[in-house]
Amino acid sequence: MVIKSTPRAVAALMAVSLSTAGLCAQTAIKLPKNKYTPEQDVQLGREAAAEVRKQYPIIKDERIARYLTTLGDRLVAAAPSELKQPVYEYSFTPVNLKEINAFALPGGPMFVQRGMFDAAAGEGEVVGVMAHEVSHVLLRHGTANATKAQNPWLQLGQVAGAVGGAVVGGSAGSAIAQGSQFGLGTLLLRYSRDYEKQADLLGAQIMARAGYDPRALAHMFETIERETQGGGGGGPQWMSSHPNPGNRTVYITKEAESLTIASAADTSGFQPIKTAFASLPPAKATSDLARAEGSGGGEAPPSVGTPGQPIPAPSSQYQEIRGGKVFEAAVPSNWTSLPSKSSIKVVPQNGYGEMNGQAVFTHGVEFGITKAGTRDLREATNVWLKAVAQNNPELRVAGTQQAVQISQRSGLATPLVNPSPLGGREHIVVYTTFLVDGTLFYYLTLAPEKDAEALQDAFVRIGRSIRLTDAR
Ligand SMILES: [Zn+2]
Repeated sequence: MVIKSTPRAVAALMAVSLSTAGLCAQTAIKLPKNKYTPEQDVQLGREAAAEVRKQYPIIKDERIARYLTTLGDRLVAAAPSELKQPVYEYSFTPVNLKEINAFALPGGPMFVQRGMFDAAAGEGEVVGVMAHEVSHVLLRHGTANATKAQNPWLQLGQVAGAVGGAVVGGSAGSAIAQGSQFGLGTLLLRYSRDYEKQADLLGAQIMARAGYDPRALAHMFETIERETQGGGGGGPQWMSSHPNPGNRTVYITKEAESLTIASAADTSGFQPIKTAFASLPPAKATSDLARAEGSGGGEAPPSVGTPGQPIPAPSSQYQEIRGGKVFEAAVPSNWTSLPSKSSIKVVPQNGYGEMNGQAVFTHGVEFGITKAGTRDLREATNVWLKAVAQNNPELRVAGTQQAVQISQRSGLATPLVNPSPLGGREHIVVYTTFLVDGTLFYYLTLAPEKDAEALQDAFVRIGRSIRLTDAR
């Protein structure tokens, strides 16, 4: 499950600098600050694309694939030479999903959903969205986002897997962890309004050089907005990643007036391709995909023993673990750490593994972070728990929430009960506090009712050992 994150309040990174040379000049676009290398863009994109290809219904039809590649190649050829990266590996892949959406990963892999073709009135509109996506790639917006976010969690690794996971939207792991996905993919693929405007303007310029009228891009956006508002379910995906900077039609039209459109591209391939689409199996909805991938997906950490087998007593020896720049803690030396993109579980033997084809987390602790939309701890905690409960319909608060100290910060302890995958009930206590940047940090303890007492001392000792290090 992916929790929709609120768009990050982005500091006014004046990425779009309007040319002062006169009304007729095209807008100059400035490459945003980026601490990653183009090679890292390529590596990220390559690994994430492999993940997407595994989980998405890729259209194998030769005609459609070739057509999309022809369009993509035209756009890449028309890109400004100062933004071209020789190491980039462009690819243009059609996907049999019905939402109006397209996305491009760092370094070049682009995926265009069938819904985009179905909604487009002509080739120029599909090309417009592709030009917008190519512009995100050329301007390296994904890794520029990562640069400015300085997400302390990035050190946990599994970067590309996280991208793939967030794109695809499903992840195995503990049910609790699924409420807290704070994935890099979200970071890499959700753009600020500044970046959106950059991609629109550069996209318009590229379209003109490739022989298309940029106003088709504005028209496609209007269609997407209409779909979104009409509640047809076609457009929200696109809108959540590519927020409207406002006045989109106005500034794209204005930009178009400053541009010279090269000799018109041959668009005769569009109608036959619409016919080719009609011969495919019906398009799937992304939500069906996420459900199908929801259990036993590729991202589950390896098993630690066999769930259901007895749990050995926690060692009296403790070892240090560290979660990026966020926290340090001490855990029993015979427990195993399982880091994932937004959390670290630490489990005793037989506390995590596959059972009936599903990854289950039955004993241990978990540390994680999740975005918070408020500075009110109780409210932030409850919003997050509500999201967790969507995947755990029988999760219940079991007592009163209490004020606690976590690493000398004010925290909140919330006792919960849930049916255990092993039968009976499991006891969960979630401890929450804020990090300095307003992100919610949580620590939770989990054990089936019958084992709760045996693990209690270890849980208390781990909790007391937590040191939040994000302020250093
Ligand atoms: Zn965009």
